[in-house]
Amino acid sequence: MTIRKIHMVDLSSQYENIKEEIDLAIHEVIKSSGFINGKAVQEFGSNLANYLGVEHVIPCANGTDALQIALMALDLEAGDEVITTPFTFIATAEVISLLKLKPVFVDIDPNTFTIDIEQLQGLITNRTKCIIPVHLFGQACNMEAIMQVAADKSLHVIEDNAQAIGASYIFQDGTRKKLGSIGHIGCTSFFPSKNLGGYGDGGAISTNNSIIADKLSMIANHGSKERYYHDVIGVNSRLDTIQAAILKIKLNYLDEYIAKRQEAANYYNEAMVEIDQIQTPVTSDFSTHVFHQYTILMETGRDDLKAHLEKEDIPSMVYYPVPLHLQPAYSYLGYKEGSFPVTELLAKQVLSLPMHTELDNEQLEFICSTIKSFFN
Ligand SMILES: *Cc1c(COP(=O)(O)O)cnc(C)c1O
Repeated sequence: MTIRKIHMVDLSSQYENIKEEIDLAIHEVIKSSGFINGKAVQEFGSNLANYLGVEHVIPCANGTDALQIALMALDLEAGDEVITTPFTFIATAEVISLLKLKPVFVDIDPNTFTIDIEQLQGLITNRTKCIIPVHLFGQACNMEAIMQVAADKSLHVIEDNAQAIGASYIFQDGTRKKLGSIGHIGCTSFFPSKNLGGYGDGGAISTNNSIIADKLSMIANHGSKERYYHDVIGVNSRLDTIQAAILKIKLNYLDEYIAKRQEAANYYNEAMVEIDQIQTPVTSDFSTHVFHQYTILMETGRDDLKAHLEKEDIPSMVYYPVPLHLQPAYSYLGYKEGSFPVTELLAKQVLSLPMHTELDNEQLEFICSTIKSFFN
């Protein structure tokens, strides 16, 4: 008996299960030759708006563009400060710098890996204009607290929801809202390995504010409402019709895909409950978790466990090995080793295990028994 090859993400098995629908949809776009702004783009946008419970969704070319366009829509001035986390993919901070704004990092909560609310308040100055909370690995930042701080200080909030599409925030009164619908603007990515992944690049921006929505769609379209008339400086950032057609189908499966990720996470949790050296992911009481990543913590031996898994052909990944404030690209900000102790510690302890919609019990059992054998 041989086990199916284990991948971090298994997009080809996932495709096999929906192949007919997808092939047909792609073929229809090709036949119509409406490659740019074809009807699937608008349809997908409105289906996603429904799913998220927001008034407006503006599809765009990728998640990085989504963040950039969101910032551009806020009319900020060079040197204005934007607070975010150093424990994220570079894109979150990159767009801040590109627009000549100043990224201000804040350390993270050790359980959720997201912005530490207590420290956030102390970093707000009269140049602070915006907060970009990142819903890392599939669960929410403490949005209720962040929105309160933002309201008190008149700041905008752009949710980086690239990793947590489909997760819900649970408010203190028990009501729930989908992530990406709580801040002034939400940004997400359809990079193939994301929870709602296309077959190429893609992204979207969501908002309930119709004035902001108008600006966002104008900026994404060369600063133009009417062709060849340009009101502001914009960019060219479109979601391809083929990607929209694929995503429209995959959106119908998103909740099922999330349930499969949660099942795999439960399997891992139960299998590792007795391993003292491993801390399994903590789900906060204010969020559901859609497990973009299943990330364990090990105080020591993380790299040895990774190597042990590799010997059995089991992949694992370190997200993220170098916090943004210690990247050469960000040396100009003047942070140093020790600036963000929690982030720096976690960067040495995190290990993400294979997590996707096609993991079967046989594979999970093999991964978990290989992990256990490391400690024996
Ligand atoms: C993937 C990702 C992005 C960027 O999305 P792209 O579509 O790859 O441009 C931004 N922020 C976070 C947290 C991400 O994981």
